[in-house]
Amino acid sequence: MADTQYILPNDIGVSSLDCREAFRLLSSTERLYAHYLSRAAWYGGLAVLLQTSPEAPYIYALLSRLFRAQDPDQLRQHALAEGLTEEEYQAFLVYAAGVYSNMGNYKSFGDTKFVPNLPKEKLERVILGSEAAQQHPEEVRGLWQTCGELMFSLESRLRHLGLGKEGITTYFSGNCTMEDAKLAQDFLDSQNLSAYNTRLFKEVGQDGKPSYEVRLASVLGTEPNLDSEMTSKLKSYEFQGSHFRVTRGDYAPILQKVVEHLEKAKAYAANSHQEQMLAQYIESFTQGSIEAHKKGSRFWIQDKGPIVESYIGFIESYRDPFGSRGEFEGFVAMVNKAMSAKFEWLVASAEQLLKELPWPPAFEKDKFLTPDFTSLDVLTFAGSGIPAGINIPNYDDLRQTEGFKNVSLGNVLAVAYATQREKLTFLEEEDKDLYIRWKGPSFDVQVGLHELLGHGSGKLFVQDEKGAFNFDQETVINPETGEQIQSWYRSGETWDSKFSTIASSYEECRAESVGLYLCLHPRVLEIFGFEGADAEDVVYVNWLNMVRAGLLALEFYTPEASSWRQAHMQARFVILRVLLEAGEGLVTVTPTTGSDGRPDARVRLDRDKIRTVGKPALERFLRRLQVLKSTGDVAGGRALYEGYAAVTDAPPECFLSLRDTVLLRKEARKLIVQPNTRLEGSEVQLLEYEASAAGLIRSFSERFLEDGPELEKILTQLATADAQCWKGPQ
Ligand SMILES: [Zn+2]
Repeated sequence: MADTQYILPNDIGVSSLDCREAFRLLSSTERLYAHYLSRAAWYGGLAVLLQTSPEAPYIYALLSRLFRAQDPDQLRQHALAEGLTEEEYQAFLVYAAGVYSNMGNYKSFGDTKFVPNLPKEKLERVILGSEAAQQHPEEVRGLWQTCGELMFSLESRLRHLGLGKEGITTYFSGNCTMEDAKLAQDFLDSQNLSAYNTRLFKEVGQDGKPSYEVRLASVLGTEPNLDSEMTSKLKSYEFQGSHFRVTRGDYAPILQKVVEHLEKAKAYAANSHQEQMLAQYIESFTQGSIEAHKKGSRFWIQDKGPIVESYIGFIESYRDPFGSRGEFEGFVAMVNKAMSAKFEWLVASAEQLLKELPWPPAFEKDKFLTPDFTSLDVLTFAGSGIPAGINIPNYDDLRQTEGFKNVSLGNVLAVAYATQREKLTFLEEEDKDLYIRWKGPSFDVQVGLHELLGHGSGKLFVQDEKGAFNFDQETVINPETGEQIQSWYRSGETWDSKFSTIASSYEECRAESVGLYLCLHPRVLEIFGFEGADAEDVVYVNWLNMVRAGLLALEFYTPEASSWRQAHMQARFVILRVLLEAGEGLVTVTPTTGSDGRPDARVRLDRDKIRTVGKPALERFLRRLQVLKSTGDVAGGRALYEGYAAVTDAPPECFLSLRDTVLLRKEARKLIVQPNTRLEGSEVQLLEYEASAAGLIRSFSERFLEDGPELEKILTQLATADAQCWKGPQ
């Protein structure tokens, strides 16, 4: 068996993305718009295969051929006849589903390679004896010969994405180093070109002098196109003693399909912002112009609160080892009209609810401003992975001048938290059913409170450039000290500039605490439609989940550096510490031994003490958080926050040791099955699939029903054209 780090386990969680309700509430024009945008996104997403590894396009083509000829059940019969065990065939299905959902054979979160967890010889027998191989023997054999070895190889350079000796990447030819990447960045900057839609290819001449090709993604290639600002950039340059050539046409046939479908979507746009936005994206993908994409993004930002939201292009640069080239992604999401109504109701009640928070009125804003927050349900997310929220565009200049959108993806969050009973770690048996029943509803309550009243509450005391204060120095009293206000923000100082490294985690902690505190309020529970025993269960599960989340958060603590890698997770751990400190048996965290004989743990929350012990403890903590924030008391704030965030092996909890248990019991990242949309007559239908590896594979087989073979040919031709570029450093 392969090292478990490099395989996906057979029992990996698979969930379906549920967007039925949101889709049902769309008008037929909105559905058509969503459909064509989804098509554009799915086509563009295929470019990620070419952005990941040399073999990924071939693996994709091979799998797609196999499952087009035989669906997962039919192929199972053949595989078992070839001598595979059920486990081995399941391992193959999980591998294939993993390739589809990561758009390649490297994990989108963590960038490590994953390989099929069965013997190569057995997989070869399945492939070469398959229906697909009988129909197209040369093609299937050719694909297997091209990618079979690399599919299984765990040679050290191939284990991670990286540059040069560090790993594998197809953003750079294999002979490029970090020095080349830096030089190319300087060149791009000097020409005012963005790296987002580029790849870099280096050739070394006979004289040993390197020459570089900067290739832009576009439909058009070298054909003259006099109108474009891009054409003038397509030429040769001498830069710092090196030769550079700017070309375009990367992924051309794929982007052609993207453009065609964006054109169709444009006919169903809801307003002129959407029309102009799509026109600019079309220009961007046609010409290879990031400037056009920025113009499109400007219209996108101006399109506030659309029913159908989308974004598409070369967006996130995490997977470029140099960090400036964007991976293709495209998504389509919809307002969940029912959930939005509840959030609006919460905002309408803000004035009343903010009075309940445990700080004096002088510490609250003079007028409540609704924070920028939208919750949407994803219909389509094409690319290497699906985030639970997005904050885009990434163009810094646009963010400064035009702003950005902050979107929480509700149905993706729901998937992330929907765990099967047998995989529910660290809970008591008797809590599990309740937890599964109420996790989703309590999470909606917590998200609404956190985002709207958490981040929306509290006032900062400020003295402006003219010396005027936004609070009354004579009458406002600090409830912690009983004295007048001694410190505040001076002109030019902000929360982030003063609290710097702890600012975001501290604020997340304040927002989470507001959520826990206000969920106890009957008015809030009523807004979300809960009363009586149900309401009490929602409260209990919300608090229990926070306690468990505080323990799970330890995964994101690095003992070697004594630091937290994730602000949200740190915040949850801090809340767990606060509730433990409340004492009286409110919360206990106990190391145990699992039925497998290995370390385990249990968290317990006494539901009868939530209001009597938990609430007062949270009240004291929240008041201190707010007072230190309002007064800009960095020293006090740091002392309080870092005290709770410290992870030690002090008994009784021994959190450092518990961290090992958390890592040991960590659930592998789930695979998410997405629906398809299909045009039937003039109506768009939503097609859903079962939550399994086989269901995920079927969703991809049906995604490209008409042009699957054509797409696979395009992908392998594009990959083959650059195949000689990926040899590693000598
Ligand atoms: Zn937050």
